[in-house]
Amino acid sequence: MTLLDDLLQANEAFVKNEEFKAFTTDKTPNKKAVFLSCMDTRLSELSTKALGLKNGDIKQLKNAGAVVSHPYGSTMRSILVAVYALNVDEVYIMGHHDCGFGALKPEPVIEEMKARGIDAETFNTLKNSGIDVTNWLKGFDSVEESVTETVSNVKNHPLLAQSIPVHGLVMDPETGKVDVIVNGYENVK
Ligand SMILES: [Zn+2]
Repeated sequence: MTLLDDLLQANEAFVKNEEFKAFTTDKTPNKKAVFLSCMDTRLSELSTKALGLKNGDIKQLKNAGAVVSHPYGSTMRSILVAVYALNVDEVYIMGHHDCGFGALKPEPVIEEMKARGIDAETFNTLKNSGIDVTNWLKGFDSVEESVTETVSNVKNHPLLAQSIPVHGLVMDPETGKVDVIVNGYENVK
């Protein structure tokens, strides 16, 4: 049985047993906040439960490293949509210690791409179009610095209202303990 078969079998039982009733909520978040955190599997549930958050409380975004690196990429767009269309008043950027993306070295990833059939020429073609894959895949040395930079990128976005606090947090993936790196209430206008 494939993974997809497993998932569909679980889904059939879930719907049939009406387990969805435990998850009933609506489109707007109870706590009026959007969280960007890392896609690390250790944070799947820990990232909300360690903060006392329940299903329906917040808008959740996940990506590798909890990073907003492009001002007009889909992560930044999601934050803006949350603020202007989904009743969100605060933004939280939450990185974590021992981040797999932070430690990522681009070179082995690129080698793996080549081993799986990506033509070496593709990297040159992309470079000529302004996309340096090595830089694009690069992680970060310090999660605190990365969170601070992403907070700054979001906070200074030309389309984000100055009244919206943008907080920066770092979570311990073992214990769930959170440290505040940037208190967004201190830089609202
Ligand atoms: Zn991570």
